[in-house]
Amino acid sequence: MDLKALPKLELHSHLDCGLSHDAVRRIDPAISREDYDRDFVAPAKCASLADYLSYTLNYRAVLQTERALRIAVADAFAQLAADGVVYAELRFAPLVHLEKGLSADDVVRTVSDETVRQSEATGIDAALILCTLRHFDTADSLRTARLVERHARSGPVVALDIAGDEDAYPLDPHVPAFELVRAAGLGVTVHAGEGGGPESVWEALDKTATRRIGHGVRSIEDAALLARLEREQIHLEICPTCNVQTDAVRTLRQHPVDRLHRSGVRVGISTDTRAVTDVRLTQEYERLRDAFGWTLADFEQINRNALAAAFAAEPVKRRIVGALDQGFAEVSA
Ligand SMILES: [Zn+2]
Repeated sequence: MDLKALPKLELHSHLDCGLSHDAVRRIDPAISREDYDRDFVAPAKCASLADYLSYTLNYRAVLQTERALRIAVADAFAQLAADGVVYAELRFAPLVHLEKGLSADDVVRTVSDETVRQSEATGIDAALILCTLRHFDTADSLRTARLVERHARSGPVVALDIAGDEDAYPLDPHVPAFELVRAAGLGVTVHAGEGGGPESVWEALDKTATRRIGHGVRSIEDAALLARLEREQIHLEICPTCNVQTDAVRTLRQHPVDRLHRSGVRVGISTDTRAVTDVRLTQEYERLRDAFGWTLADFEQINRNALAAAFAAEPVKRRIVGALDQGFAEVSA
């Protein structure tokens, strides 16, 4: 089974945490391979989600100009193409790229413009999710929500997400931002159930009415929650290697992704942070095949789950259905 050749959807990938060393060096030639391996790639096992998140600050430091943001987008598309991705949702937090004079609108405009260019050049359909962060206040989250609303009118922005240290910060201050985006008919997704326990998933479902959860792996600890996820067809954006790295899960073999998938919960597979985690999407598939014996049918199912949960417009979804039908038929032949 040629996993690399399979058509894939990736719904959970942080644009700012995926920069290859090549891309970082183009932005700042002073950053050597050694610097990169030490400062940009986290160890395979971090002490906690907070420890892991400390590495993301180094990416932010170099992503403060329009040129750097364009390099990041081009680098992301090169990686998506190498993985056989046919549809991607890339996410980033606009408000952390304002240290050298860019406005938040400049940041979103630049990333949107380069995404459209790269999408046309590579044939990969893509959309953008704007993230607010757990430690932000209500005003910052509302500011990010308004960016979603404004830029969704003219470009590939489709949704609001919240990322960051879910164990240390509750959702309450951010609820108005999610309400604003939902009222505008746009998408929402919430990081929960990774650093935080099942209660953080309940909180996300109850307070933001999200239909997608970033990770959600600790839902496995709560039977009533699992029943709800299945009943309401909530999609879990699962990033197995990253979950082991943040120590939400001890080892890949103990990862609940297989049990969740078998129990009827809708899961999809993503990388989360390609560079901080040092993983590619094809590798995630290989690890799931090796750990749980996943077959072509499993990989087709998770991609169809992702398509059902994608924030893409209907014409794009129809195109992706065609790519999945053809790609999986070719590989099984
Ligand atoms: Zn994430």
